[in-house]
Amino acid sequence: MSQPTHDHLSLPARTTAEPAVRLAASVVFNLSGYTVHDAVDLPLGGRRVVVAADATEGPCPECGVLSWRVHQRVRQSVKDIPVGGVLVEVIVVKPRFVCAETACPRRTFTQATDQLPTRARCTTRLKEAVVAAVLDSGRATAEVAADHGVAWGTVNTAILDQSLELPAVDQVPVRALGIDEHRFATAKWFKNPDTAVWCRVEPWMSTFVDANTGHVLGVVDGRSSRNVTAWLRARSQAWLDRLEVVAIDPSATFRNAIRQVLPAVDISVGHFHRVKLGNQMLTDVRQRAIREVLGRRGRKQDAVWAHRMLLLRAGDRLTEAGLHRLEEVFDEPAYEQVAAAWAVKEYLRKILNAPSIVKAQNARIDFELAVAAADLPEADRLSLTVANWWVEIKVFIRTQVTNARTEAANTAIKQIKRTGRGYRNQTNYQSRILGRSFRRTRRRSQIHPRAGHHAQV
Ligand SMILES: [Zn+2]
Repeated sequence: MSQPTHDHLSLPARTTAEPAVRLAASVVFNLSGYTVHDAVDLPLGGRRVVVAADATEGPCPECGVLSWRVHQRVRQSVKDIPVGGVLVEVIVVKPRFVCAETACPRRTFTQATDQLPTRARCTTRLKEAVVAAVLDSGRATAEVAADHGVAWGTVNTAILDQSLELPAVDQVPVRALGIDEHRFATAKWFKNPDTAVWCRVEPWMSTFVDANTGHVLGVVDGRSSRNVTAWLRARSQAWLDRLEVVAIDPSATFRNAIRQVLPAVDISVGHFHRVKLGNQMLTDVRQRAIREVLGRRGRKQDAVWAHRMLLLRAGDRLTEAGLHRLEEVFDEPAYEQVAAAWAVKEYLRKILNAPSIVKAQNARIDFELAVAAADLPEADRLSLTVANWWVEIKVFIRTQVTNARTEAANTAIKQIKRTGRGYRNQTNYQSRILGRSFRRTRRRSQIHPRAGHHAQV
């Protein structure tokens, strides 16, 4: 790379760096529009690189007229990506031009490039590196800031900036939507410094996810019907019209909210939670049975306690030995109700695994017979839940749309929370959730960012 002839520039003396070092620096230091003048390893660690703008003229950003009249040389100090673990500070020397157009309101201007925007404190590629470290690698903001030699706020601002480039939700064609709630913090009370009023900070958030891709479309505070309807009402009619199925957990609040905005959409309750409900029913019965029979909590030596995991496992996936051990439990007359509850749980699984509505309806008859035979309050409650959600269960069997990806998104969200050691600022928290999910989904399915659209948070 040839040195430009800026003889009149007030550049530092070049005695500190040998030509070989300069060459290496300029190879590594590939900032288009700039040429390396100097590279110094600083005594306390880090490297300082001096670059000068190549352009001897430039267009005014206001009127577009080219100017080569230099008003003054300005020096701008920016941080750049570390090279081989060494922090790099860049001193940019560039001319401030006087606008040649007398009618232009702009008096002077400097050159800006993609990598070095006007007044930037760090290069664009450094910003991209810290955003990728936080959002793609899931590293903590403070740790990334330290490794890159920038302030925590610089990393945070870079992440907030990129959340402005997330695609608008209305531009993402979604046919199956998943809605789920998660707890992101314990409830906290904060005193508003202006009004001195204490307010409770909602520890819940509701997540909206493309149930097919896992792309997190939105995160709203709370888990009330009002928050869910508000988010849905903010969507365009075209977007709402495209929705075919909404997958939720069996939550009456969410079902009512969806019905208010989307009276005709199919609502699906995935088998994930239904199986959990069956297992919970069985666990309740087991614990009650042990208390009734033994007058105390279960211990390792009690077969019904020792085999509690076998009870919960899918019956058709048990080994011969496993089934034999369960039979031992069921043979004890004292645990008759545990055996009955186990049968109810297995029939519920048969409903949810049915390949067709007809088979599901047949399985439901077997299920109801098992519930009647068991004659247990826990099984009766489960049967009531199945009746309450029968329409939605049938939608699930027909469409197989589940909340599984929403669950996975929530797991990732909880990891973001752990990495951040608990975000107190919800904007920061949401920008990471949406940003991270978008980048993951884009890698998988090529969604294109639309600059300028605000993320729906
Ligand atoms: Zn101008």
